[in-house]
Amino acid sequence: MRISELLARDGVTFSLEVFPPKTSDKYTETAEAAMEIARLGPDFMSVTYGAGGGTGDFTAGIAAGIQREYGVPTLAHLTCVSSDRAHVMKMLEVYRENGIENILALRGDVPQGGQVSTDYRYAVELIRDIRENGDFCIGGACYPEGHIESANKREDLKYLKEKTDAGLDFLTTQMFFNNDIFYNFLYRAREAGINIPVIAGIMPITNAKMLKRSVAMSGTDVPQRFRAIVDFFGTDPAAMKQAGIVYASEQIIDLIANGIRHIHVYTMNKPDVAEGIMKNLSSILHLSGVRYED
Ligand code: FAD
Repeated sequence: MRISELLARDGVTFSLEVFPPKTSDKYTETAEAAMEIARLGPDFMSVTYGAGGGTGDFTAGIAAGIQREYGVPTLAHLTCVSSDRAHVMKMLEVYRENGIENILALRGDVPQGGQVSTDYRYAVELIRDIRENGDFCIGGACYPEGHIESANKREDLKYLKEKTDAGLDFLTTQMFFNNDIFYNFLYRAREAGINIPVIAGIMPITNAKMLKRSVAMSGTDVPQRFRAIVDFFGTDPAAMKQAGIVYASEQIIDLIANGIRHIHVYTMNKPDVAEGIMKNLSSILHLSGVRYED
């Protein structure tokens, strides 16, 4: 099923992200975690694409498995900055053969000292190529706080509009911990003429190390309230996990209460974290048609 059709329905959509293994010896273990998450019955699931592009078959395999075993539609990610056009065309074929209709088209992080594509500089070029080479539903990434490389938010929004106009069906945001930043972004995006659905990406932070890593990678603002939670509970793994699940749940409740219809949770392949959030939101998700049973 195309994600654009799901997003056009009445009510809230609730989706979950998993990532593929880096090496084949971890494939079974990773696929099992992804299936446990699929069993929870989200509206759709996304499967990320390994940096460097060498593990695209794992992305396709896990995405196809989720659709086959649980009937949950999947969104397979695809990056371009470390690939040439021939590899991208091959991946489109692999996705097509695996019954994958939805692609999140990304540039990927520019590898430090690594091989950079001569065919692609920005995601917009990948989006145009996918549009011209198949009937995929295409999503793109957006950054409520501005992408870490961009000079300012206005410039970032200009390129986001160009990316959207190249043929995107929807956007998914980078994680954020302060909903006001997202509301402000959404207002600016609409003012800039970006009118496609925007899916809010929520990352449950379940240990202190994870917060440090996520913030270093994305530059995401951490509100004082959340900093205090990590400072206080960070040394107790069970307490921190519980606090992280509750914080993410509260963020989602606030988003839904303020009219945001599409929520995507970065599960980090942790079924218990995905389930914890769905349990906290069970009545709210029932309203949206997600059938989570305790
Ligand atoms: P782009 O849209 O190309 O933007 C990158 C930068 O270039 C921005 O600063 C933008 O303002 C600027 N820019 C864009 N167009 C132009 C232009 N024409 N001229 C000048 N500047 C321009 N990474 C992975 O490796 N695998 C994944 O599966 C993955 N999934 C992700 C999912 C989501 C929801 C998000 C938010 C990110 C994900 N990433 C993933 C990370 C992503 O690849 C990086 O953030 C990357 O640095 C930017 O990718 P992009 O597609 O947003 O790039």
